[in-house]
Amino acid sequence: MTEQKRKAEKLSGVKGMNDILPQDAHLWEFFESTVKSMLRSYGYQNIRTPIVEHTQLFTRGIGEVTDIVEKEMYSFTDALNGENLTLRPENTAAVVRASIEHNLLYDGPKRLWYVGPMFRHERPQRGRYRQFHQVGVEALGFAGPDADAEIILMCQRLWDDLGLTGIKLEINSLGLAEERAAHRVELIAYLEKHVDALDEDAKRRLYTNPLRVLDTKNPALQEIAANAPKLIDFLRDESRAHFDGLQRILKANNIPFTINPRLVRGLDYYNLTVFEWITDKLGAQGTVAAGGRYDPLIEQLGGKPTAACGWAMGVERILELLKDENLVPEADGCDVYVVHQGDAARDHAFIVAERLRDTGLDVILHCSADGQSASFKSQMKRADASGAAFAVILGDDEVAQGVAGVKPLRGVAADARNEQQAVALGDLTEYLINAMVASAEDGDD
Ligand code: ATP
Ligand code: MG
Repeated sequence: MTEQKRKAEKLSGVKGMNDILPQDAHLWEFFESTVKSMLRSYGYQNIRTPIVEHTQLFTRGIGEVTDIVEKEMYSFTDALNGENLTLRPENTAAVVRASIEHNLLYDGPKRLWYVGPMFRHERPQRGRYRQFHQVGVEALGFAGPDADAEIILMCQRLWDDLGLTGIKLEINSLGLAEERAAHRVELIAYLEKHVDALDEDAKRRLYTNPLRVLDTKNPALQEIAANAPKLIDFLRDESRAHFDGLQRILKANNIPFTINPRLVRGLDYYNLTVFEWITDKLGAQGTVAAGGRYDPLIEQLGGKPTAACGWAMGVERILELLKDENLVPEADGCDVYVVHQGDAARDHAFIVAERLRDTGLDVILHCSADGQSASFKSQMKRADASGAAFAVILGDDEVAQGVAGVKPLRGVAADARNEQQAVALGDLTEYLINAMVASAEDGDD
């Protein structure tokens, strides 16, 4: 008895990992198709790497003293062979790993993009999940500020294509390793003077990753962070020229930006340009995309020294903006719903539906829920609910006469000519295609 009860208990998904339900499928598809056409328009190629990688890739690639590696990774030992594996928390390291492994850069630079789920063990809240999705680009083998500018322009184009407004660009330069080292000495000295006021995280990072103290979200530390020595003041000519070059291109393309000297990014591998796109419409989780230049990474992961830059955007955060601002066009239902009654009609219905699909129409063929033939009335209810533009109706009588009933279900056609027409089976596809075109044109007026 108890055994039976246990079996019947409902199971739920893992906390912080969401189901994407059919009612949201259109939203995702709208976003993905808009993103893909933007990426194509810049000549980017898709790359798909596995969701699981060796843990070492991320500890080496992201840096030991980062939020991700310190506390957010889903790492486990493969019970069968003892390998240390991790669900990818981000995808730059994996794309770089794959590019080195398959020698993708042998014939010059590459523009790559990916989309897919990432995994971080964070406290779930609005805009912050344990499985979330990122779209990202990696421009591998480009050293100049023109590549930084291009990937930033791509984001602006995407916001425009999606109809999103009010997403603001912040940029900064993290300079080169020597410049960061000089800044670090002064930053540590400054933070030591305020050590009593620092929180746990800041104290822990004081000597390991003091730059991260500057982007603390703790309100109590804002003043200390704001008055700290600025890395940007430590840049020498070369870094300055890169940063100026970027700003010049952004200005020439009318991309507004602000320089945020405290913008440092969570991952260790960045140098020179870093940037974030931020909205104030999502509460605390306002960063929708973030990226920058990571020239040291490819060599650090065993490749030839190669300059590179990229960004990643949080899909869930962008979808929330699209929903809040009603920017998602309505989903189309399918074109035709075929209802049928009687054995001969059912056999015919299959043939008719396949013929309609051959011409490119989207067709739902009624299937009974209980294996019994349902009444026309209940089938028509389903046809209505499906959102189809037309019902095609087949009874044994119709089949004997070589005709089908056609009834407009929605749109202009349904309002104006609501009655059912008998159409010869041989003329059915042409009739429906003409009717679809006519109703689309009416709808455009
Ligand atoms: P945050 O400061 O919000 O933790 P991050 O610096 O960890 O962000 P990145 O690693 O730069 O974020 O990831 C790029 C983008 O991916 C973020 O700007 C955000 O839009 C999205 N993102 C990151 N973590 C999550 C998450 N846990 N849930 C949903 N989206 C996320
Ligand atoms: Mg984070």
